[in-house]
Amino acid sequence: MPHFIQPEKCIGCDLCAKKCPTNCIEGESKKIYVIYAPLCIDCGVCASYCPVDDCILDQHGIPQRRINPKARPYAVVNEDLCTACELCVDACPFNCLEMIEDEGHFFKVAFDARPRDCVGCKLCEDVCVQKGAITVVWPDGTYCESLGVSTFGPFREGKAIEDLEEGVRLPASRMEVRA
Ligand code: SF4
Ligand code: SF4
Ligand code: SF4
Repeated sequence: MPHFIQPEKCIGCDLCAKKCPTNCIEGESKKIYVIYAPLCIDCGVCASYCPVDDCILDQHGIPQRRINPKARPYAVVNEDLCTACELCVDACPFNCLEMIEDEGHFFKVAFDARPRDCVGCKLCEDVCVQKGAITVVWPDGTYCESLGVSTFGPFREGKAIEDLEEGVRLPASRMEVRA
C-alpha cells in the first residue's frame, strides 16, 4: 500500500513532490497533488515535509508527522565497514553521497558530502550489502528506524536492518558533518 494525499487538505505547495525520492508525486502548483501508487516505496518523506496537518496518510491510513528542518535525520557512513561498492552513491536520488579518500583505508569510502540535501529516504541503507556501513540517524545520533509514526511498509520488511536497534548511537566524530 502506498502513501496517500487527502485531496481536501492539499494546498498544492509542491514540497512533497520536490522531496519524493522516487519522483512519484504529480500535480500542478496550487492544485491537488497525487501520489502515483506503483512507484511509492512508503518511505514517508513526503509526509515529513508537508506543511498541512494530517494531509498525507501512510500505508496504514495513519496521518504522519512533519519534521522540523533542524530535526531531520540524515545518512552517516561508518568508513570502517564501507566496502567501497558505491551502491549507495548510485542509489541516492539527491546526490548526497560521494566516494572520498580516507586515512587508514587503501580504497575510497562513501561519505555524506551534502547532509542538508538528505531527505532520510533510506534508499542508501537499503541497497547497502554491508549492514551498518551506512545508516540514517537523527541529529542526536540515534538510529532512525522510520520517518513515520507507524511501521515500515513491505518495501523494507525483511531488509537487513533488524539488528540496528533503535537507540544505537554513532561516535560523535561522525555527527560533525551536519554541525
Ligand atoms: S512515501 Fe516516499 S515514495 Fe511514497 S510518495 Fe511519499 S515520498 Fe514518494
Ligand atoms: S506537501 Fe502537502 S500540501 Fe503541499 S502539495 Fe504535497 S500534499 Fe499538498
Ligand atoms: S537517505 Fe541516503 S539515499 Fe536518501 S537522500 Fe539521504 S543519503 Fe540519499
